[in-house]
Amino acid sequence: MDLEDKQILDLIERAKAASENAYCPYSNYRVGAAVLTFDNRIYSGCNVENAAFSQTIHAEENAVSQAIADGLLVRAEAGGIDQNQVLKLLAVFAPRGKDPWPCCNCRQFLSEFGTAFWVVGLEKRESKEKVVGLCFAELVPHLFSKEDVL
Ligand SMILES: [Zn+2]
Repeated sequence: MDLEDKQILDLIERAKAASENAYCPYSNYRVGAAVLTFDNRIYSGCNVENAAFSQTIHAEENAVSQAIADGLLVRAEAGGIDQNQVLKLLAVFAPRGKDPWPCCNCRQFLSEFGTAFWVVGLEKRESKEKVVGLCFAELVPHLFSKEDVL
């Protein structure tokens, strides 16, 4: 995967823009995410905190949920695309974060939609930024999946 690909850089910019809309009065930890679907649509989301912290919605969940609300899984089924192949790329951006990797809750949430997609974003060290990416399967090598339940 070419991490300097324009599509990847654009997706990171969409995640960055979404982070500006975060509702995070408790943590002040903004997060934005943008997901590219199998049919080349882009959906973005931000974190939405709640006074009852467990009700907080994470940016990655928000972005993927918006894709689903817009018919992602219906379009996939109509096109014969397996649910495990609906996501192509996920960009995550947090202005205060050092890495783009989703938290473990989000990794579990995302695993519902396969492990073949890539997660990309900016690694920030000592005021230097570098585009990094990992296949989701590398982030969650031993996930608890729907195959375990079914
Ligand atoms: Zn998360």
